[in-house]
Amino acid sequence: MNEQKLSLRLEKVASFIEPESRIADIGSDHAYLPCFAVLKKLASFAVAGEIALGPLKSAEEQVEKTGLREQIIVRKGDGLEVIQAEDQIDTIVIAGMGGPLIASILEQGKSKLEGVKRLILQPNIAANRIREWGVKNHFRITAETILSEDHKIYEILVLEPSEMALEYSEQELIFGPLLLQEKNQVFREKWRHEQEIWQKIIQNIENEGGDVAKQAKIAELTAKIKLAEDVLK
Ligand code: SAM
Repeated sequence: MNEQKLSLRLEKVASFIEPESRIADIGSDHAYLPCFAVLKKLASFAVAGEIALGPLKSAEEQVEKTGLREQIIVRKGDGLEVIQAEDQIDTIVIAGMGGPLIASILEQGKSKLEGVKRLILQPNIAANRIREWGVKNHFRITAETILSEDHKIYEILVLEPSEMALEYSEQELIFGPLLLQEKNQVFREKWRHEQEIWQKIIQNIENEGGDVAKQAKIAELTAKIKLAEDVLK
């Protein structure tokens, strides 16, 4: 992977950036995504934000090597704090982290979301936490995709501000309102696999013998298995 050739996952993330956007890539690591976006004219300007020194250095080197210092600023910081008003960011990308971390970055950085037209989010796990954050904060889901690469399955969610109050069912929050409409092969594979994991956890708990808390966990997992069964029917 490099700034010209992204992984399938990051390429799909980039495909949701509208031409000439002003993007902030939070947790940019190697900064391949902002470099790719600027080179492909998807972004006219980018902030690459990183909290950790190692990845920050590799982002700086990458931007320098690609000759994009005029268009890409690398900043050290936690979450959205790297975004400044004069950047006029309209698109935020957060990819390759867990859903709970992405949701907490958005929650803590709410003041930076004014003027932002699109969030492109790729959680490695627990995408439901992002959908729940969206509902609470008036962001609707405008696109969702699911893909498999190197035996891992990834979801990508695109959220945009909404004037209206939103409501999604429990099923939609867990499985994704748009992914549910399609229920493609990768979606089915993911949820069959999740079912197997939940079943194994139940078995382990049962083997250990159960107190009340464990029984509650079994009930919760059984309900999830049933939800997935209904969806995969
Ligand atoms: N976004 C790239 C991708 O999808 O390939 C890199 C993903 S990498 C697994 C996650 C990166 O996010 C790491 O470089 C980590 O240091 C950074 N990170 C984690 N928490 C962060 C935070 N609160 N603010 C900024 N960066 C963060």
